[in-house]
Amino acid sequence: MAKQNRNSNLHQQTFHGTCVDISFEGKGVVKSGDDVYFVSGVFPGEEGEFAFDYARGKAEFGRTIKLDKISPERVEPRCKICSSCGGCSFQQLSYEAQLRHKSAVVKEQFRKIAKMDVEVQPTIGMENPYFYRNKIQMPFGLDKKGNPYCGFYKEGTHVIVPIEKCYIEDERAEHILSTIKKLLKSFRIPPYIEDERYGVLRHALIRTSYYKKEIMLVLVTAVDSFPGRNNFVKALVKECPDITTVVQNINTRATNVILGDKEHVLYGKGFIEDSLCGVNFQISAKSFYQTNPVTTEKLYTYAMESGMLQKNEIAFDAYSGIGTIGLIASKYVKEVISVEIVPAAVRDGIKNAKRNGISNFKMYCDDASAFMVNMAKNKQHVDVLFMDPPRKGSDERFLNSVLKLRPSKIVYVSCDPSTLARDIAYINQTYKLEKVQPFDMFPHTTHVETVAMLSLRDSKK
Ligand code: SAH
Repeated sequence: MAKQNRNSNLHQQTFHGTCVDISFEGKGVVKSGDDVYFVSGVFPGEEGEFAFDYARGKAEFGRTIKLDKISPERVEPRCKICSSCGGCSFQQLSYEAQLRHKSAVVKEQFRKIAKMDVEVQPTIGMENPYFYRNKIQMPFGLDKKGNPYCGFYKEGTHVIVPIEKCYIEDERAEHILSTIKKLLKSFRIPPYIEDERYGVLRHALIRTSYYKKEIMLVLVTAVDSFPGRNNFVKALVKECPDITTVVQNINTRATNVILGDKEHVLYGKGFIEDSLCGVNFQISAKSFYQTNPVTTEKLYTYAMESGMLQKNEIAFDAYSGIGTIGLIASKYVKEVISVEIVPAAVRDGIKNAKRNGISNFKMYCDDASAFMVNMAKNKQHVDVLFMDPPRKGSDERFLNSVLKLRPSKIVYVSCDPSTLARDIAYINQTYKLEKVQPFDMFPHTTHVETVAMLSLRDSKK
């Protein structure tokens, strides 16, 4: 039974409960009698005392007061603030358990959404699941003593949780961020304070190359020019010689979107280069590029193998970003057609094809569904379809055109198993789901990336 505590103006209730599952969002599903609450950082089998606050208006989200029974899967997290930052909900769960959980989530989404009982392969994880992120973005703030700090937004808020060391980001970022904090103070460049709409530096975005050891620093500022800019950059690259280019991005809007439209290159060439599966990519401040280079290579290699590509085939790469999957596929097939909606990504893709001397690759800037409808109208022949949509998945226009085009193989790369299950259920009568393979692209977080391989059930129809 829940106990009420009214000695503060918070309307708090405590209750005893048992965690029975982990929700899709990664929260512990805690049962207390017939009631169910979602509590972060609690794992199946754990029991204890929990609380929820009516005052926050979210009675169903609880927090732990004391655990009486601890899961054998619980481990000491490397990061002491992993539960308050909200990024690494799973750092307190053993890595093996995280991987098992991710496969189970994919299976459950297929059961729940597609009403399909599918065999899901064990999630392919990382040998060293730390310091993997090649893209780091942190907002800046100013503490009461006037010292700049940076960190992550606390889950669901705009409150910055200060961070000195992050265990999932490229280790080289730590020194750069601490140098920025130090130099902001000595150059008297104020961080931007959102509520006051005053100050200069909003975010620092760091992109690192895995193979070429290049680093891009993007300083996102609320104003175009500010005193001391050039000397600040000079001092920064002197103290951080790993930085190969510095870009200033100007974002004057009161918005959640980090990057603005205008950019100045303050140092170096304005982009970095990296490679994936032997193809070189040029990456600029705004390019979409997978954030875990080690798992991405495993995933793309697997996607190529799943496509069973032949030299006489035509491959289609939909939602192609800067053309990564299509460019890698190009050496195994006769021709690749790519479509992506963001013009800058398409420009990068075309440039990347040229730089790699790839001539059997065509990239178009369009909505993937509109493009597919046209392809189907023109009876374009496609042998293998790679599709890698954003979290919301594909749509019926796209999938109806797939059913008309009838590529013999589909390799669906997904960052959200629920939309993956929905889309596959839609084409299930025509396409047989051959294999479902999750990858751990984001260790210690709740996210799971999945590759599903499908084949045309009856290629003669
Ligand atoms: N395959 C790429 C990118 C995947 S992310 C890679 O592995 O790097 C998904 C991509 O889909 C993004 O680049 C996004 O801009 C693009 N996108 C989103 N909606 C789209 C649409 N309606 N049509 C075409 N591309 C779209």
